[in-house]
Amino acid sequence: MFENVKFDLTACYRLGKKMFNDKLNYDAIIVGGGHAGLTMGVALAKLGFKLAIIAPLEVSFKVADRGDGRALAISEAPRRMLELLGIWAKLDGKYAPMKKVNILDGKPGDILQDALLEFDQNANQDGVSAVAHVVESGHLLGAMWDVAQNEANITLLIGRKLKNFKTHKSQVDVTLDDGQEISAGLIIAADGRGSMVRDLLDIKTFGWGYGQSAIVCPVSHEKPHLGTAYEHFYPNGPFASLPLPNGADGRHQSSLVWAESPEFAKKLMAADEDFFNQEMVARFGLHLGDVKLCGERFTYPLGLKVAHDYIADRAVLIGDAAHGIHPIAGQGLNMGLRDIAVLAEVMTEARNLGLDFATHIVLNKYQTWRRFDVLTHAAFAEVINRLFSNDIAPVRFVRDLGLKLVDGMVPVKKFFNKEAAAVSGDLPSLLKGEFPS
Ligand SMILES: Cc1cc2nc3c(=O)[nH]c(=O)nc-3n(C[C@H](O)[C@H](O)[C@H](O)COP(=O)(O)OP(=O)(O)OC[C@H]3O[C@@H](n4cnc5c(N)ncnc54)[C@H](O)[C@@H]3O)c2cc1C
Repeated sequence: MFENVKFDLTACYRLGKKMFNDKLNYDAIIVGGGHAGLTMGVALAKLGFKLAIIAPLEVSFKVADRGDGRALAISEAPRRMLELLGIWAKLDGKYAPMKKVNILDGKPGDILQDALLEFDQNANQDGVSAVAHVVESGHLLGAMWDVAQNEANITLLIGRKLKNFKTHKSQVDVTLDDGQEISAGLIIAADGRGSMVRDLLDIKTFGWGYGQSAIVCPVSHEKPHLGTAYEHFYPNGPFASLPLPNGADGRHQSSLVWAESPEFAKKLMAADEDFFNQEMVARFGLHLGDVKLCGERFTYPLGLKVAHDYIADRAVLIGDAAHGIHPIAGQGLNMGLRDIAVLAEVMTEARNLGLDFATHIVLNKYQTWRRFDVLTHAAFAEVINRLFSNDIAPVRFVRDLGLKLVDGMVPVKKFFNKEAAAVSGDLPSLLKGEFPS
């Protein structure tokens, strides 16, 4: 008798929601309008969820123009997701493919070092065109902002901050710093390392400072980088250059990430350009000819901060709010983008079954799926930084030998390449470049 009756589960879900939760303003409220918050918003909005994003800083075009010094290496699978969401196209070519990574071990002044280990796209013939793509943080944020602003399902609450929230059985009530009250089925913390949501939920973190600060800035050089990134391991910390597109004046450019002791970093920040360039060249080497600072310098203290739990009642942490790691392997935002793909998948799956997408069972699926990846990447960055940020001769001998050995092992390099591209393992749909169905 019912064989010709088809149930539209999404419609059932909406009807149920209307009957029981009519006063909810949104499906979810996202706290934070950084890279993670905006991308989460765009992904969920395109999947039919209604959202508010609380963004204290008008991601303002000022931020996008000036940038924050960082250039972010985006791995292949997260890049596919950004492409699917329409964010990548907004970059309008403002990115450079990273085709090769050369790893070197040395002391400042050893400017003729040979690479001990080289990763290139040829070590990987599985449809990955580059190890990663490098994009300036401000440009990426601008592109995300642009797409988020044009999503009908997103309400951007600009220039405001979260003040407090209260969790009830079937909803979360949020109060903003201007007194406005809104409610939703779920609160998503994308409010960065110092997450207020995480603190209000009393979720503990583990981690420590590295006694290092990173200086980031653009540099111009005589010869083209040909898509090569260089990572030098110096006793005070890693010193990396990431390939950038040529500057507006046609000069070849790379982005520098230079980790140093906080005291020396402070000196370098205050130094005149001649002193800065002299110290930089002693580490950069001569492989790209003459190198010069060509923009503003920014500095970031480096540390590890990982949340014990990524979920609580009707609450979930994503991005740096869940895990802030050392930038040595360029994985911080990539991990955040993987959080987004997994959360969007489990929420959609529950919603399509006519279920509440913010129950413990659903959120726990997210947490379980993400935990292993987060801990392995945090541990990898930790081990590499500790192994290389020292000048103990026997340790140097063993690590250099290890790098040379790995360099000769094509299957091992292929494995690391696939890990860096994030195309292996149990991938959620968005990371495959598809919407979950
Ligand atoms: C030197 C350096 C190099 C890096 N290189 C790479 C790389 O190559 N590849 C890579 O993948 N990652 C890299 N990272 C990591 C990457 O930059 C971060 O993981 C990423 O930017 C974090 O984004 P997020 O949105 O989670 O957090 P944030 O960018 O910290 O955003 C948090 C947002 O929340 C807002 N907020 C805070 N409090 C409140 C509140 N009470 N109410 C509302 N909103 C609030 C803030 O205003 C902000 O907009 C690097 C990091 C550093 C420091």
